[in-house]
Amino acid sequence: MSRPADLPALPGRLAAADPGWTETTDVLVVGSGVAGLTAALHLRERGRHVTVVTKVNIDDGSTRWAQGGIAAVLGPLDTPAAHAYDTEVAGVGLCDPAAVRVLVEEGPARVRELIRMGAAFDRNPDGSLMLTREGGHRADRIVHAGGDATGAEVQRALHQAVRRDPWIRLVEHALVLDLLRAADGRACGITLHVLGEGSEEGVGAVLARAVVLATGGMGQVYASTTNPSVSTGDGVALAMRAGATVTDIEFVQFHPTSFVTGSLSSVQRPLITEALRGEGAYLVDEAGERFMAGRHELAELAPRDVVAKAIHRVLQQTGTDHVYLDARHLGRDFLERRFPTIMSYTRAADVDPATDLIPVAPAAHYASGGVRTDLYGRTSIPGLYACGEVACTGVHGANRLASNSLLEGLVFARRIADDIGRDLPPQAEPEIGDADPGWVAPPDIRGELQRAMTRGAGVLRSANSLRGTAKELTRLGEQRGRPHNAAWEATNLLIVAAALVASATTRRETRGCHWREDYPAAVDEWRGHLLDRIGPDGVPIQEFEEMV
Ligand SMILES: Cc1cc2nc3c(=O)[nH]c(=O)nc-3n(C[C@H](O)[C@H](O)[C@H](O)COP(=O)(O)OP(=O)(O)OC[C@H]3O[C@@H](n4cnc5c(N)ncnc54)[C@H](O)[C@@H]3O)c2cc1C
Repeated sequence: MSRPADLPALPGRLAAADPGWTETTDVLVVGSGVAGLTAALHLRERGRHVTVVTKVNIDDGSTRWAQGGIAAVLGPLDTPAAHAYDTEVAGVGLCDPAAVRVLVEEGPARVRELIRMGAAFDRNPDGSLMLTREGGHRADRIVHAGGDATGAEVQRALHQAVRRDPWIRLVEHALVLDLLRAADGRACGITLHVLGEGSEEGVGAVLARAVVLATGGMGQVYASTTNPSVSTGDGVALAMRAGATVTDIEFVQFHPTSFVTGSLSSVQRPLITEALRGEGAYLVDEAGERFMAGRHELAELAPRDVVAKAIHRVLQQTGTDHVYLDARHLGRDFLERRFPTIMSYTRAADVDPATDLIPVAPAAHYASGGVRTDLYGRTSIPGLYACGEVACTGVHGANRLASNSLLEGLVFARRIADDIGRDLPPQAEPEIGDADPGWVAPPDIRGELQRAMTRGAGVLRSANSLRGTAKELTRLGEQRGRPHNAAWEATNLLIVAAALVASATTRRETRGCHWREDYPAAVDEWRGHLLDRIGPDGVPIQEFEEMV
C-alpha cells in the first residue's frame, strides 16, 4: 500500500448545508443514461419502488451522443466466444474473463429487450437487423439506429418507458452530493441539492435501502472531450469519499477525431466517427500532407490510440490545435446519406465536409476504469451498486472495444436489479454526528484543472509531465470555495484528477490507452490493477493487485 507523492489532500465529504428535507424510497438510482434507466425499469419489474435522480434533464448524459452503435452477437456467423476474444484483445491482458463472458452471453437478450421496448434499430430490406463492423471487431455485430444516431434512439426508448411507469419517480435538476451510511457501514441513502421550487428544494436527503450509481463518465476532467458537461466524474468521487475502491482509472480512451470549432462549446467537442475514415476520409496536416501512411500499416484506420498519438505528435510539432480530415472526395450525396448527424453539426459551424477540410483533434472519450464492482454491480460498500461508465466491472481492461459500453450498461444494470430483487434489507438509519464539515474547491479551478490534465496526463504521459500536473492539482487543491453546484462539480473533478494522476504515475508501462513516453512497452509485472481510494487523512491511497 502506498501514498502517491505530491498530490492534494482531498475532502472526506463535500461541504453543504444540513439536509432541509428527507424522503424515502426502496432503491435510489443516480443518473438517467442507459445504465440508470435500464436499472430502474428492471427494478420495477421486481416490484421495487424506484427514485431516479439526475443532475440536469433526463437526456443530458453521454448516452444520447453515442453514434456508432451497440455490439452484440446477433448475426448467424457470430459467436459469444468471438466477441469475448475481440473484447479481450482490446483490453490488453487486463479484462476479467468472467465479466467479459457475462457481457457477451447476456448482451443479445438485453438488446432484444430494448427492441421490444420500442427502440427502432436500422434494418435490412428483408427486415433483419442491419449489423455493421467497427474497429477491433472481427464480425458484423454492431446494431445502430438512424445511421449514426444510436444513442439518441436508445435514450428515447428508455425515457418513454420510464415516463410510462407511474412507480418510477424522476427528480431532475438534482445534484447528488454524498453517500449516507449506517453504523455498520451499509449505504442507506444520499444527500443532494435540488434546484427548483416546492418542498424539495435546496439540500435534502433521500433514504434508500440500496443506492445505484449510474453517473456516467469523467471526460470533463480534460480541456477537450466528447462527453457532455455533466460528465464530471461525480460517482467516482462520491464513492471514493465514502471509502469505496476505484480501479483502472488511468485508462482513459482518447478519440482521435473530435470536431474542433470555435463556435461550439470549447470543452465538449462533437465526435467525427471513425466510420468516416472507414469510408475513405483521410488525415492531413496544415500543409495538406497525409501523415498516417507510413506510421501504421492500416494508416487512418489504425487503432484509436495509435491515431490519437500520431495526431498529438503533429500538434506538438506544428504548435496548432488541430489537423484536418479530408472527406471532400466522398461527395455530397454520399455524405448526406451516410453521415446526417456529422453533416448537420459541421454545417452549423460553417464547415461543409463536401467542400471544406474538417478540423479535428483528439479528445477524452471514455473512462475504462471506475468504481470497482463484482459481477452483480456490487461495490466494496454494502448496499452501494454501480453500473455503466462510472463502474469498472472488468469488461474493458486497459481499453474499451468500440460499442461495448452501451452494452455494458444494459447488461450490468439488469444484474444489479437481479441482486436487489433477491435481497433488499430494511431501511437503515444514517449515522449522524460526523464531525467532518468537509470542504469544496472554488468553481473557477475547473478550467485550470482541465488544462493541466490535458498538458500532463492526456494522450501521452511521462513521469515529468505527470509531476507537473500533480503540482498544479496540489496548488488548486489548496483553494476553498463556497458550496454550490459548480463548486461541488469542481471538487469532484479534483478528486478524480488526483486519482487518475496517481495511477498514471505509478503504472510505469504503456498498455491499452495508457501511453507513457518514458516506458513505451507493456511490462509483464504490471499485468494487474491499481486500486485507488481516499485514506482517513484525505490522502489518496493506492494498492496494486496482480492478475491471477
Ligand atoms: C460522443 C460519444 C459517442 C459515443 N458512441 C458510443 C457508441 O457508439 N457505442 C457505445 O457503446 N458507446 C458510445 N459512447 C459511450 C457511451 O455513450 C457511454 O459510455 C454511455 O452512454 C454511458 O452511459 P451511462 O448511463 O453510464 O452514463 P450517461 O449516459 O452519461 O448518464 C449519466 C447520468 O448521470 C447523471 N449524473 C452525473 N452526475 C450526477 C450527480 N452528481 N447527481 C445526479 N445525477 C448525476 C447525468 O446527468 C446523466 O443523466 C459514446 C460516448 C460519446 C460521448
